[in-house]
Amino acid sequence: MSELLLRGARPWGAGHEADILVRAGVIERIEAGVEAADAEVIDLSDRLVLPGLVEAHCHLDKTLYGRDWVPHPAGDALADRIATERRLRGELGTPDVDAITALLERMVASGTSHVRSHTDIDPALGLSGVAAVEAAARRLDGRVTVEQVAFPQYGILTNPGTAELLEEALAGGVGTIGGIDPAGIDGDPVRHLDVVFGLAERHGAAIDIHLHDGGTLGTWQLELIAERTAVTGLGGRVAVSHAYGLGQAGEADQERLAVRLAEAGVAVVTGAVYSFPVPPVKRLRAAGVTVACGHDGIRDLWGPYGSGDMLDRAMHLAYRSTFRRDEDIELALHAATYGGARLLGLPAYGLTPGAPADLVVVDAATPAEAVVTRPARDLVLKDGRVVARSGRLAP
Ligand SMILES: [Zn+2]
Repeated sequence: MSELLLRGARPWGAGHEADILVRAGVIERIEAGVEAADAEVIDLSDRLVLPGLVEAHCHLDKTLYGRDWVPHPAGDALADRIATERRLRGELGTPDVDAITALLERMVASGTSHVRSHTDIDPALGLSGVAAVEAAARRLDGRVTVEQVAFPQYGILTNPGTAELLEEALAGGVGTIGGIDPAGIDGDPVRHLDVVFGLAERHGAAIDIHLHDGGTLGTWQLELIAERTAVTGLGGRVAVSHAYGLGQAGEADQERLAVRLAEAGVAVVTGAVYSFPVPPVKRLRAAGVTVACGHDGIRDLWGPYGSGDMLDRAMHLAYRSTFRRDEDIELALHAATYGGARLLGLPAYGLTPGAPADLVVVDAATPAEAVVTRPARDLVLKDGRVVARSGRLAP
């Protein structure tokens, strides 16, 4: 792969203009005054450079993205959404490889370099979702990295046959095992966690558990998950998504739980969607917890919203967290970049020599301005390859 020199960049955190030399897909130098005679030069004219955006929680297999508009058919209760999805997914033909591909293309054009997607696994679907997401990711041909979570959307203990299929998915190469409301959906948190952590240990998988249960039922399960993580030595490989109970807890409980999660090595992933409680990003980060963010559902039977744009998501997280100062707004962008990268365990990431050249160029004076205004992505690189220009996929 040839050399590329991005001249006159303003890398997030550098505090000054720098040139970025990319060789063989990797950032080789990032400093002022780089010369490289044979490199193709792209003049960035003092535009802001961010590392590739990380979508840390979505559901690609459910999406209707890019298709004719589908009016939202479900009632307002959670049970309605679950029943509607089970009833209509066959009729609507999800998982749909074309829709997943269209959404991944939109993500790439918006600057996303890595995606973690929770894929429904249940006896009626088998592993069809896993296969569909893999097929779509292959069509993107390296423009984005897609990681799947084997996700028991309809429970494990309450949905016989699911545990076996989760195991089959992990044996087939899916790297992360999911879980869902060990108490609220499965009614037996200890046995639910037995299955999830047991599968993780047997297959060397990471863990990412959906936890919508609120109040003390939610925070108690966070404690259980932290305890399991510590006991199994899986710290750094475990995440809880949503954690609404943590967002609802009082300050003293949030403080105590933040320390507990940090010590155990449990990350928190938030979507900041609708009016659901948002975990205390600032407090979690101060305690040393990894915080990542993602859209959750995008244009599916769970809801009609979502753009696939992680600057959009970072804006929602900052807004819902009532962040106004630049340094606070940057915490939301951190969740959509470095936090997500840490969640995914990426060995090298960021605006530093030796990291893959996953870069996003925008016309903004500061990262906070980029979150608030969500400007067009002028240039997107994945592994040093130009994958999008001016908000469109590069040919
Ligand atoms: Zn989700």
